[in-house]
Amino acid sequence: MTHILHRQIHATLPVAAGGKGIELFDRDGRAYIDASGGAAVSCLGHGHPDVTAALHAQADKLAYAHTSFFTNEPAETLADKLVAGAPQGISHAYFVSGGSEAVEAALKMARQFFVETGKPERRNVIARRQSYHGNTLGALAAGGNEWRRAQFRPLLIDTHHIDPCYAYRFQEAGESEEAYGLRAAQALEDKILELGPDTVMAFVAEPVVGATAGAVPAVPGYFGRIREICDRYGVLLILDEVMCGMGRTGTLHACEQDSVAPDLMTIAKGLGGGYQPIGAVLLSRRIFDAFAKGSGFFQHGHTYICHPMACAAALAVQEVIARDDLLANVRAMGAHLSRQLGERFGNHPHIGDIRGRGLFMGVELVEDRSTKAPFDPKLKLNTKIKREAMARGLLVYPAGGTIDGIRGDHVLLAPPFIIDATAIDAVVDRLGDAIDAALA
Ligand code: PLP
Repeated sequence: MTHILHRQIHATLPVAAGGKGIELFDRDGRAYIDASGGAAVSCLGHGHPDVTAALHAQADKLAYAHTSFFTNEPAETLADKLVAGAPQGISHAYFVSGGSEAVEAALKMARQFFVETGKPERRNVIARRQSYHGNTLGALAAGGNEWRRAQFRPLLIDTHHIDPCYAYRFQEAGESEEAYGLRAAQALEDKILELGPDTVMAFVAEPVVGATAGAVPAVPGYFGRIREICDRYGVLLILDEVMCGMGRTGTLHACEQDSVAPDLMTIAKGLGGGYQPIGAVLLSRRIFDAFAKGSGFFQHGHTYICHPMACAAALAVQEVIARDDLLANVRAMGAHLSRQLGERFGNHPHIGDIRGRGLFMGVELVEDRSTKAPFDPKLKLNTKIKREAMARGLLVYPAGGTIDGIRGDHVLLAPPFIIDATAIDAVVDRLGDAIDAALA
């Protein structure tokens, strides 16, 4: 009997005992291809010797020093590196222990920015229905996944949700992608005007929606118009790249492919690749200057911010990715994965959509392809696919999303950046068999 409170109380989980490259092994010696990196975390795969060596070296040198007394070398170097590769305008990094903490910090930075600049009436957050921004109360409030929010709603700060940009579900017949993108973005302007522009603090969105939708990118033009609208009304744009960022989509930041730069960006999973818990907020000069010229203080902080071990791990992960040009592999293998998924599922009667970017791909299951009607959630198809996949030595991330009563089943794939074509073929093969077995 375990004494750990697991997420699923009645599930019996195998014990993870080791990992090497793209595979994880359980205590009974079974191997699993890690085709989702957990939840899009293990971008370098498992047991990378350069990262474990960097961790050993850092542990020998300095494991921890509190930020009220010291800064530290790995954190300083990592911040320099992240700012050098960041979208235009980003000037500083703030290190935390994960994605939810990063979103919390970004929301507080947005709020403090307006307090420092004499606009304390700006407090409203706008986000999107189909989104996940974390499980702490602020991040949960920003997220638009009702299944996760429902019982905690009385504890959440007021956040206002608009429809997502989700072409498969919301683009109308005969409507061009461009027209749809502008229509979807218009929902933000309408909401700002409804709330009163002087009350709105920030708009939060994932450039490629992960956990609640299974790798849904926006259509071209959507984020460009979102940026214009934010600028027109002085609203800060927070892009949450906790899942889709740090190379996952084939560029370092997903928003590069939308030609848009945020005021604040959150990153996490692929930053440390799971070797240590770490997340960060990348903030623009404008926000930094407001703090520097104002109180000179960001009113926030956790015991483990700028953790030397976490920063050393992330630095090593990012150095390997750059040294081995792994983003080129993400692009090449992403194209291969997309082709293979198309071949296996293009005519599948219950796969409605295949989408994503780079090594961040999703398939959406539907009961009926012509009406796009989802399966009854009570069937728990997600769970069955996960179980069938594990039985075939494959780890995938089944995701569900609730959007105005539409709950779709999705499977998210986010394999390590080091994967090759043969392994991708095995992933698609096993996934196809797992889906068919679950449907049967
Ligand atoms: N934001 C996004 C987009 C995420 O996908 C997640 C986690 O899945 C989070 C925030 C929360 O990150 P964490 O689980 O590290 O707190």
